[in-house]
Amino acid sequence: MDVCEQIRLDISEEVERLMGDRLILAEDVQKVIHHAETTGKKLVDPATGRSLAYYRPKAVTYWVEYSRNGEGYQVHTAYSHRMVMKSSGSTREWVKSGSVSTWHCSQCQAPLEVQTVRLQYMQSIFPINLPACSQCGFILIDEELATGKVAEAEQALEDK
Ligand SMILES: [Zn+2]
Repeated sequence: MDVCEQIRLDISEEVERLMGDRLILAEDVQKVIHHAETTGKKLVDPATGRSLAYYRPKAVTYWVEYSRNGEGYQVHTAYSHRMVMKSSGSTREWVKSGSVSTWHCSQCQAPLEVQTVRLQYMQSIFPINLPACSQCGFILIDEELATGKVAEAEQALEDK
C-alpha cells in the first residue's frame, strides 16, 4: 500500500460535496498532505493551528486546508487551479504592498506579505498582488482567488 493511502482523512459531508463539485479526489488530498508533512513546505495559521499546502502532481495544483486530528487529518477545504504560480525572477524584485496575511510560512517562520507576483497560464502572464513569503518565494493562491478570478482567467484563455 502506498504511504499516501495510509493518511487518514476526516472529511465532513459539506467538504466532500465541495470536493465532488471541484473534481478533487481523496487521494489528491492525501498527496498534498503527504507532500506538505514530509517536506515541511506549508503555511500555518498560528491563531487556528490550521495548515494550508499545495501540491502539483500533474497539470493541476491542489490546495488543502487541514489540521491534525488524532491519528489523521481533518480537511477544512480543498480547491485547485491550473494556472502556474511564477514569481518574476528574484523575490527581491517583488513589490510589497505592506499588508500582512494571517498565514505564516512554516519553513521560514515568517508571516506572508502581499507582493506583486506574476501568474502564468499557457502563453499569458498576469501581474497580481498575492500574499507570499519573501524569503523562500512561497505564493498563496487562496480559495476565493482560485475559484473566482483564476478560474475565470483559465476559462477565458481556453475559449480563445
Ligand atoms: Zn518561506
